[in-house]
Formats: sequence, C-alpha cells, structure tokens
Amino acid sequence: MKRFALLCIFLLLFFGCKKQKDTDTDKEILIMTSFYPVYISTINITKDILDIKVLNLTEYDTGCIHNYSLTSDNMKDISRTDIFVINGAGMETFIDKIIKEKSVLKIIDSSKGVKLIEKNNNQYNPHIWVSIENQIKQIENIKEGLSLYDPLHKENYKKNADLYITKLNQLKQEMEEGLKDIKYRNIVTFHEAFNYFAEEFNFNIVSVIEREPGVEPNAKEMAETIKMIKKYDVKALFAEPQYSSGPARVIAKETGLKVYTLDPAVSGPLNKNAYIDIMKNNIKVLKESLN
Ligand SMILES: [Zn+2]
Repeated sequence: MKRFALLCIFLLLFFGCKKQKDTDTDKEILIMTSFYPVYISTINITKDILDIKVLNLTEYDTGCIHNYSLTSDNMKDISRTDIFVINGAGMETFIDKIIKEKSVLKIIDSSKGVKLIEKNNNQYNPHIWVSIENQIKQIENIKEGLSLYDPLHKENYKKNADLYITKLNQLKQEMEEGLKDIKYRNIVTFHEAFNYFAEEFNFNIVSVIEREPGVEPNAKEMAETIKMIKKYDVKALFAEPQYSSGPARVIAKETGLKVYTLDPAVSGPLNKNAYIDIMKNNIKVLKESLN
C-alpha cells in the first residue's frame, strides 16, 4: 500500500511538472541574435526574465559575419523566432533575404542613431560595438525594441539595461584613464574592427593589415603597410584572436616589431561580463605594447 502511494505521488509529480513545462513553452518568447557581441548585449538586457529564451543564429565563435551565408538550419531557426536582434550598419548582409522570406519577423536594428564611419560608395564600417559609447547606444536600442515588442517585460528590460549601462560607463571611464597616457598613438590593426574604438580613445590607425576581412593581404598591400609602419613610427602590430596571425607575423619579421593580440570582442566566453572583460584586457595589451 505504501509503495502504491509513493507511485501515485511520483506519477502526480511527473505529469504535474510536465504539464507545467508545456504551458511555459507556449508563452516563451524566443529572441535570436545575429552574432556574438549582439548576443552578449541581449543576455544582459534579458537577465533573470523567466519566459525569455535568447539564442544566437550563427556559431558563437564565427567572429565577424562579413559575407556570412545563411544555412538552411539558420532559416529554420529564424522561422521559430519571435524577435531577431541585429548589429546593423551593414554587418548582416543576409538581412534582406530574411526580410523577404519572413516579412512578419520583428527585427531590432541596434545601430539606430549611431554615427557611422563611411568606407566607400555608401558602405559603412559595421564594427560599432567596439566603441563603448556606441555599445551603450546599442543597449538602449535593444531595450527600446524589446519593450515595444514585449511590453509585458518593459520594466525588467529597463532595469537590466540601466544596470548594464552603468557598468559600461564605468568601463569607459576606466579605459579613458588607462589609455590617456599612452605615448605612441599611431597603430596598425588587423582588420577594420577598431575604427570606432580609435576615434573614441584617440588613436590613429595608419594601416590595416587585412583590407578585406578574411582575405589575406597580397604582396603590394603588405609592402604598403610596412611603408606606413616606418613612416609613422608604429611601435607594435596587432593580430586578432578570430583571424590567423600569419600576415602580421610576416610584417613583424620585416619590421622587427612584436605582435600583440587586440580583441574586437567578436567571439569569446558566453557570460554576461564577457564584453567588459575583453575590453579591460585590451587596456592591458595597449599599455604594454605602446609605451
Ligand atoms: Zn569585422
């Protein structure tokens, strides 16, 4: 009899919980982000909200998604998504395809109102999040968008965004303080990821090793970079964790410069403080390499 009672309790708990879970899934909001930095921003804004799920469309270690082609699995994921959060500024070159095929999808463009740096023919540099000020603007845009599409959690989004923005303002202060006395401010970066950062913290990018992201520089481009390094008395070379450091090492050999790693926060750990930790590490690298 005792055993029977236990079995009843077990069955009740099992089916009781299962039913509860099904109900939860029904009202769960699925938010998809396009790539790593947008994912880190969004998990901060949706922190501790129970019926929200945040997933990233691309692999977390994809890095920049310049020229990314959508897979059929990506399109399936988009089909079950309620809200899609993008970086904007031209980073998601596939966005037109998504809009065309899933016209009902709610899209949040986090670059709204950010002052963009023009590259050429109406194309803009999309690496806006590497500037703390822009990152704050992006957090505000994502918060606004989520509050519009999911007004039920408006207060939670506001509370989380405010908290994260406070941390980002502290980070900006720490960076200004840490970087202000750096002696040599002419730098060569690996790809065009640091232009907004350089503008914000007063560095001068004299050349970029890889002109086209993901395409190794040819001999002429390498020679031009070496010429600029000598002309502007550049003191260090920067590779990025997401790309092969090969071309930087070739230039280092020619110029006698040391190669350091500067991280545009485009891949990394999946915790909420990841962006802040990566940027703090960049302060250390810049101080060590340029003084
Ligand atoms: Zn990039």
